[in-house]
Amino acid sequence: MSDMVTLTLHVPSLQELAGVLLKGLKKTFTDVMVSVVECPDLTEKPFTFPVKGICGSPRIADVGGDRNMIPIVRKDKVFDINTVAKQIKLPGAYMLGAGAVSYQTLGLTAELTHSVKAETEHEPAINESYLARVNPSDGTYVLEKYSEKYSDCNFGLMAHLYASEGKTGKVIEVKANTRTGEDNFVSCMRKALAEQYGDKIVGIGGTFVIQQGKANVHVMPPEFPPCPFESQEDITRWLKFYEMTAPLICQSVFVSHDPGHDLRMEHTHCFSHHGDGGHYHYDTTPETVRYLGYFHPAELLFRIDGPEPFH
Ligand SMILES: [Zn+2]
Repeated sequence: MSDMVTLTLHVPSLQELAGVLLKGLKKTFTDVMVSVVECPDLTEKPFTFPVKGICGSPRIADVGGDRNMIPIVRKDKVFDINTVAKQIKLPGAYMLGAGAVSYQTLGLTAELTHSVKAETEHEPAINESYLARVNPSDGTYVLEKYSEKYSDCNFGLMAHLYASEGKTGKVIEVKANTRTGEDNFVSCMRKALAEQYGDKIVGIGGTFVIQQGKANVHVMPPEFPPCPFESQEDITRWLKFYEMTAPLICQSVFVSHDPGHDLRMEHTHCFSHHGDGGHYHYDTTPETVRYLGYFHPAELLFRIDGPEPFH
C-alpha cells in the first residue's frame, strides 16, 4: 500500500462559514440564502441515503486522481470503500462523493456517484451508489444502481469522498437561484473559501439538488483510447458530454487550498431517479436554475495513493 498523508484542516464555525459562502455565492447568483439548520432526513427522497445525516467525525479521503490516468491508465488501481473507511479510522463510515468504477469489476469504465455506508464488524456495507456509463452501440448514457449488478464496494483510478458517521446534526443549508456569473455552484463556494482563508485548508463535503433546470454532465466512455493521455485536455476530448435534467442529486467534495499533495480542488457527481447522472460541470439554464444543498466542513483530509511525500 502506498503512503498516506493526513492533513489537519482548518474548521471555521458553521455560522462563520455560512457568512463566507453567502458572500461568495452572491457574486454569481441573484437569489441566495445560507443558514445553519438541522440536517434534514437524508434517507428520504430525493436523497435516499442509507443514513440520516452527514455529521459525526467529518473527514475527506482524496484517493488516487488523474495521476492514475495520465500518462498511463492504471486499470490495476482498485480501491475498496471498506478499506478506505478503516484507513481514515472511521470503519462503518457513510461516504459520498465522486469517482470511477473499478475496470476489473465491470470490464469497462464508468462514472461512480458514491453513496455508501461501509461495513462494520457486525453489519454488511449498504451500497446506494450509482454508476453512469456510455452505451457503446448508440452513444447514449445509462444510469444504474451499483448494487443491482455488483456486490462489492470497489472503485478504480480515483475517488473524492466525504466521510462521516452519518448522523444528524447541524449543517449549512444553501439555496441559490438564478445564476448571472460564470462559475458553477461549487466553484463559487470553493473560491469564496480560498479568498477568505488563504493557505489554511478548508475542506467541505455534502449533497445538493439541482431542483430545476438542466446541467452539463460528462460520462466516461467504456473503453480507454489506444494512445495514452498526455494532458487533461486529452481526457476532456475523450469524454462524452450531455445535457441532463433536474432533479439531479449531486455528491460533492471541495477544498480551498492544496499545499502540494496533488489534491483535487472540487469533484461532484450526480444521480437521479429518472436515469440521468454523471460528472457535474455547470447548469445550462442560468435563468431558471435552483440549487438546494447541505454541507459540512471536514476536520481531517487523508491523501491516499497520492504523490510520494517529500522528505
Ligand atoms: Zn468525475
